[in-house]
Amino acid sequence: MKVWESYIRKVEPYVPGEQPKIKNVIKLNTNENPYPPSKAVMDALTKVDLDSLKLYPDPEVTKLNEAIANFYGVNKNQVFTGVGSDDVISMIFMTFFNSDKPVLFPEISYSFYSVWADLHKVPYETVRLDEDFNILVEDFNRENGGIIFPNPNAPTSKYLELSSVEEIIKNNQDSVVVVDEAYIDFGGESAIKFVNKYDNLIVVQTFSKSRSMAGMRIGYAIANENLIKVLNDVKFSFNSYTMNRTAIELGTAAINDKAYFEECCKKIVATRERTMKALKELGFSFPESKANFIFAKHKDVPASLIFTKLKEKNIFVRYFNKPRIDNYLRITIGTDEQMDALIKALKEIL
Ligand code: PMP
Repeated sequence: MKVWESYIRKVEPYVPGEQPKIKNVIKLNTNENPYPPSKAVMDALTKVDLDSLKLYPDPEVTKLNEAIANFYGVNKNQVFTGVGSDDVISMIFMTFFNSDKPVLFPEISYSFYSVWADLHKVPYETVRLDEDFNILVEDFNRENGGIIFPNPNAPTSKYLELSSVEEIIKNNQDSVVVVDEAYIDFGGESAIKFVNKYDNLIVVQTFSKSRSMAGMRIGYAIANENLIKVLNDVKFSFNSYTMNRTAIELGTAAINDKAYFEECCKKIVATRERTMKALKELGFSFPESKANFIFAKHKDVPASLIFTKLKEKNIFVRYFNKPRIDNYLRITIGTDEQMDALIKALKEIL
């Protein structure tokens, strides 16, 4: 073994959902939005000034931060934007979880958290979920160097009531508490309303789900100005986290089109409700979902088998071969037509 090999920081890598290369698949495996971005995004794209691309982007992302601040009724200095919420959360691990006390997150949760913890050398412990996958507020009442959890949780789709979220923030005022709201727009209530009440709260959201822009890589954190300033200070030292010019323009166009955003979310929620009904009739059970996906288990047929059979029919869903959830499928909500095709395929398989 070469000496330098022993210097490598090794992490257990995150395994992303498959991005199939073939066309005409029904892709329900990575919680993307089935609808295209707002038409205003296309307009903005055609107006991108080619000549401007020779210049570096605004490092303070002023235009987009102002638009996001405007949408949520906060100050622009309370917004930090990054290259997808994955990068924003990675920066949060690097910046705020800098203690030898463990960071806490749920035992079943977004599997990137442990990857970032390892990468940034952050110790962590997981907190248990009850048998219905509920987060137990009191389990966070132990010494910690920070807390992060998605709300709704992924991949379970379970939503934690805002009063319980507030309790976690209130009980842990010595740590930074991060609420990862990637899926909040599909029926949950955001903790953004608490950012001026608690100076230890960071809410993270993304343009990847409810705003149909996973390909543009735009995520953001909203918190009090002091926390955002620290994130900016770190960002300016790690320049790869800076947004590009096109993303700033397109993101601004997307967030300014509130009507289209609301219409898409409404359609996805309606499709989710009718899909749940159809899945139940086929013998599936699942927690109530407030996300753009359903976490479903069949009464007789193993999830791994359904997963494989659906794939043979070019329908991609997500299967996690992990303790406690290895009999569940995570199914993204697509269009009504896509979900009809899924139900038809399931009828053939089961
Ligand atoms: N948080 C959660 C809970 C997620 O499921 C995802 C998407 N996989 C992300 C954050 C990251 O989303 P993005 O980087 O696309 O903003």
